Amino acid sequence: MKITRIETIPIRVPLKPELAIRSGRGGAHHVSPFLLVKVHTDTDLIGLGEASCTPRWSGEDQVTGAHLIRTYLEPLLVGENPIEVERLAGKFRLAFAANYFTKAAVEMALWDLAGKAAGKPVYELLGGKCREFVPTKWSVSGVAAAEAAEIARWAQTQGFAAMKVKVGTDPDADAERVRAVRQAIGPKVKLGVDANGGWSAAMAAPTIARLRESGISFVEQPLAPEDNVLLPALRKTIGLPVIADESVYTLQDAMMLSRIGAADVFSIYVGKAGGIGPARRIAEFAHSAGLKCTIGSNLELGVGSAAMVHLAIATAGIAAEEFPCDIIGPFFYDDDIVRIPLPIRPGEARPNAQPGLGVELDEAKVERYRVRN
Ligand SMILES: [Mg+2]
Repeated sequence: MKITRIETIPIRVPLKPELAIRSGRGGAHHVSPFLLVKVHTDTDLIGLGEASCTPRWSGEDQVTGAHLIRTYLEPLLVGENPIEVERLAGKFRLAFAANYFTKAAVEMALWDLAGKAAGKPVYELLGGKCREFVPTKWSVSGVAAAEAAEIARWAQTQGFAAMKVKVGTDPDADAERVRAVRQAIGPKVKLGVDANGGWSAAMAAPTIARLRESGISFVEQPLAPEDNVLLPALRKTIGLPVIADESVYTLQDAMMLSRIGAADVFSIYVGKAGGIGPARRIAEFAHSAGLKCTIGSNLELGVGSAAMVHLAIATAGIAAEEFPCDIIGPFFYDDDIVRIPLPIRPGEARPNAQPGLGVELDEAKVERYRVRN
């Protein structure tokens, strides 16, 4: 099998209006842009990939992604055998700096092809299942307290037994929102907060002390990545597990944070790490270093979510039972671009057992959401 070309398709999919996201990273999120990737071969097999285009996160968008794939990755990959995922991903890792979400979309498509060629789901190529399903948690947007409480109640009714609340907007509003959510869901639901780096170092400790009154059990990305060096002191002061998200893209980021004692848990993404392989290397490092991992999200659609589930089901270093993962993207959309929805239920994500990533595109829906201009 040889790669013949790489096709990219920009799409935009609206979020359910009642679940639009507001966070400490600023701005509101109503529609999600993605770049779909199809790696074509000289057989009838096609590998699928998906990049979340969130420039506020990674500096990547649909135009940069398509450009980098066409200009740098396609020439490197055409004529190659896609099942040699490790070698090819190593090759394109150095083709251009950063732009991890773009690289991840192509890397996951190679895994998809490798699985399809072998007739096995990707999780089997990764060594098989470590768990029957991936425990997941809900993410409550940083909206007004009453609205947040309503979303949390809805999520609990759906079956979520763990959640996080977006904070990092304003200390009073944060405290009020988390209190309202705790009151709505009762004492038993595992509850944490995600500040998306929205607090200053001076603001973080006193605000977290207030949030503790609502029984929170972890704090995600309290400070901006620029303030990584201040995380170890904050972590000691607050005495709660700190999850690093925006601070950890690469294995080198994870090693640095581990060395300075900045975090207890790494939130890894297939997209942020640059693929399933690099994300797995972070999880393996964390496992060896006595740290934990969970999986975070940019509200992926069916292809990206499938890559996350295969990674999490097959990777022991992802402590999903203790720190449930954010594999919840499909809940945020009325519609997806895959033909058969993934078996992602509230609180539990499972992969399809079909070969590769186990998802097929619904071409009519891809056309419906395609960006044309
Ligand atoms: Mg986060």
